[in-house]
Amino acid sequence: MFRNVEGTNDLLPGAQKAIVRTEIWHHVEEVIHQIMLRYGFSEIRTPILEHTGLIARGIGQLTDIVSKEMFTLERGDTSYVLRPELTAPIMRSYLQHHLEQQSGVQRLYYLGPCFRAERPQKGRYRQFHQFGAEIIGTDDPRADAEIITLMMEVYDTFELTGAKLRLNTLGSAETRPKYREALIEYLIPFGDALTAISRERLSRNPLRILDTKVEAERKILENAPCLPDYVDQESLSNYESLKRLLRAVEISFVEDPMLVRGLDYYTRTAFELEYGGIGAQNALAGGGRYDLLASAIGAKNPVPAVGFAAGMERLILAMEASGAPLPTVRPFDIWIVSLGETAGKKAFEITHYLRKSGLRVGMEPTKRSMKAQMRLANRADAHRVIILAEQEMQTETATVKNMLTGEQKSIPFIELVENLTK
Ligand code: AMP
Repeated sequence: MFRNVEGTNDLLPGAQKAIVRTEIWHHVEEVIHQIMLRYGFSEIRTPILEHTGLIARGIGQLTDIVSKEMFTLERGDTSYVLRPELTAPIMRSYLQHHLEQQSGVQRLYYLGPCFRAERPQKGRYRQFHQFGAEIIGTDDPRADAEIITLMMEVYDTFELTGAKLRLNTLGSAETRPKYREALIEYLIPFGDALTAISRERLSRNPLRILDTKVEAERKILENAPCLPDYVDQESLSNYESLKRLLRAVEISFVEDPMLVRGLDYYTRTAFELEYGGIGAQNALAGGGRYDLLASAIGAKNPVPAVGFAAGMERLILAMEASGAPLPTVRPFDIWIVSLGETAGKKAFEITHYLRKSGLRVGMEPTKRSMKAQMRLANRADAHRVIILAEQEMQTETATVKNMLTGEQKSIPFIELVENLTK
């Protein structure tokens, strides 16, 4: 017997847990598509396989994702990776297909599986699903504000309350390295007091240390150089505009000068949406401005862009934890039960024509007893049941039982479809 790969999930119809119930996924995906449409975003679908070089260059060699979490495959002398996120692939696609030549900025959204070889736990998987959106081709802070309002609209629509939006500006491509140096210089004397992970990050990706949850390290960081002190005037004024825009549409946020994102390509705006009720993995979504990405993957000219990425699994976990309404399975309009071979054939025929006429109809192609079939009809929550047994076959009428009222009536076969669809 094989089992699914650790850190992946089978999604099943009618599953107990919402996070693996296909009906919930359909519903959530459908709502996301509708919101994106309303906000004027179009769907982009890129392949799951990308060249390893794209991800390494796009996300940054020194990030956790590239240095230890990639699922790579070698074939011949080419190295492929199962995409760990979609922003770099989308920028690749944008550049490859010259989408900048289309009129206006590009507003793209996506939804699909991503892969990271992290240690699996609740809310953290090796195959997980992200949805997100990107506005490519403008550095106007209104685009940053729009991305954030769009992200918040998704959680609002699912009636998830209590999520906390944290906001920061990382400054420009010129000032970010200066801050990085200052932070390294400040932290080096504390070397022995840092955890092994942070010591490693100190040389590779020091800004990530600001994310630490270790109390002793948080204490050390209290006196560390502060990112906003290093940020350039233009970034600061963009940040002010962004905050004004968010306040104007009543999006509440907290400013967090310690917020940095794990990926290398962010400049200026960075944000994260947090939710307390789903355990240790409390980041629902995050994003920011990534004006450096296009150049990092080979574009001749810089391409300003901003976006967010959100986890589907964590959204569903949060909906479940918060008691937000979850969709129920659509009941069957009709269930057909039959006894005997001739009635069984008739049941097949009637099922077919009722389905063609638009009804949701169930029937089980087995030779189970009438009682067992009625039990299935009940479980399917069918509104009405059509009973076909010997007597019905002789009189060429079907017995139709209303499962809510218990009322029964006889309807001639030839009138059945018309009668049940009116
Ligand atoms: P990131 O690209 O790391 O900022 O991730 C964006 C969002 O994707 C996070 O806020 C999570 O909701 C989700 N996410 C990232 N990694 C995982 C994972 N391993 N398992 C489940 N969800 C994840």
